[in-house]
Amino acid sequence: MTNKKQIKKSIDRAVEQIAIITYNCIGNPQQYENGWTNYPGKKVLLMQNGHRSERAVAGSENSAMAERIRKSTLSYLLEGIKPILPQLNHVYLYVGAHGAEGAIEMTKDIPAEKITYVMCKCNSYEKKALIREIGNKNAEIMSCECGGNYTLEKILKDIKKESKK
Ligand SMILES: [Zn+2]
Repeated sequence: MTNKKQIKKSIDRAVEQIAIITYNCIGNPQQYENGWTNYPGKKVLLMQNGHRSERAVAGSENSAMAERIRKSTLSYLLEGIKPILPQLNHVYLYVGAHGAEGAIEMTKDIPAEKITYVMCKCNSYEKKALIREIGNKNAEIMSCECGGNYTLEKILKDIKKESKK
């Protein structure tokens, strides 16, 4: 490895990289764009149901079709972070009432210290049991409203605030 590359690598490493992932959206629909945003010392990756926003499913809609869309959206999003997982410092993942089992199972390769499950009260006992089952019982759990929109937005705003210090 050349010296230049080494230097670049250590700079990249100094920047904290955080992902916020949800099959719903962060804040209001279309309020935040998917992708990376740079803040001083921090980089945040937003992954919402953007690529299929035309098929977005409200957090409360409960049908087999709605559940399938949520699951496929989440698996798409979680597949997307796999290649960059080693470089990510932390992942915030919304875990709602529907499709939660699939979502939690898909995080079994994310180490407990790297993930915060942002979850609403629906089926919270089952969700926590599943988190233990996949080996992430030490992961942080943050409670939120159904849909998670505003809590995820607050997480984003706190990261932004924190980066200015
Ligand atoms: Zn809920």
